[in-house]
Amino acid sequence: RPQWMIKHDQLSFDRTKDLLGTGNFANVYKGIYKIDDKMEKIVAIKESITREAYTVEQLKKERESMLKEAETQVYYVHENVVRFFGVAADYPPIQVVMELCPGRDLMTHLQREKDNISVAERIVYIRDAARGMVYLHDEKNLLHRDIAARNCLIAANGYIKISDFGLSLLCEKKESIDIDEPGNHQLPVRHMAPETLKKPAIYSKKSDVWAFGMLIYEVFNNGVKPWPEDQPRKIATKIRRCEMCPLPENMPQDIKKLVKEDIWQTKAEARPSIKDTLMRVERQYRLIGKPEK
Ligand code: ATP
Repeated sequence: RPQWMIKHDQLSFDRTKDLLGTGNFANVYKGIYKIDDKMEKIVAIKESITREAYTVEQLKKERESMLKEAETQVYYVHENVVRFFGVAADYPPIQVVMELCPGRDLMTHLQREKDNISVAERIVYIRDAARGMVYLHDEKNLLHRDIAARNCLIAANGYIKISDFGLSLLCEKKESIDIDEPGNHQLPVRHMAPETLKKPAIYSKKSDVWAFGMLIYEVFNNGVKPWPEDQPRKIATKIRRCEMCPLPENMPQDIKKLVKEDIWQTKAEARPSIKDTLMRVERQYRLIGKPEK
């Protein structure tokens, strides 16, 4: 039994007091992970919300997919990627154990702090997230497929960390992956590249870069997503036509250019890689300087 296959009784938390947040499919709690007799760690525990209507078959599928995810993620070690420790999946509810990020998610932080956040700090958030993505793309060959401010967490040391690998895919030999998504899947339309809104959807590292452009938008727009009034269908049409939202005024010119002219291009091949994107953001960081603490 590998160490990442955790037993439920190694984990302790109180569902009434320790809730950190709720997603579409899971609740996240602060808890304690007892590694062995001598060692324990304070962690975040993501517990899948088990629907009563689930069949045995659905539960089995969910367990298999969580274990598959666990097996890959346990080897991701980078200061801008949420550390993953393991999964308790012997029986439902499945519990995923990861590093606790006390600053919660970036979207909540942006919405809460609004204009108290300086441009320099915003550049640091983007730089951190880009560093995490360079690691996932270039070293791990992973497509994240759900890059957004709500999936970036803030660690105890203030670092931004990429999280939520629920939709991620490994693309070992191929440049891109065709997918026929089942109709009932909730997709992050606002962050999706034009080629992923077609049938079959084509995902590549460049579609992650497109979503990264939307993350940059969110960071400068205080966590407010574009097209707040529009239905997903209408938003999808706009994206397919590359009729993108105007960029926030506080965004530095070079970053505006990066997002509007280079990242949000209909042709995936024409977009920069995440590494090129990081280089552009780092150049901006050097121009603006370190944020005051
Ligand atoms: P989604 O709907 O995006 O798939 P989900 O159901 O997978 O979400 P998450 O979004 O991962 O659940 O988690 C819900 C919330 O819990 C987050 O918005 C965040 O505030 C909090 N959270 C998640 N992971 C952690 C963590 N490691 N440390 C601290 N808080 C966390």
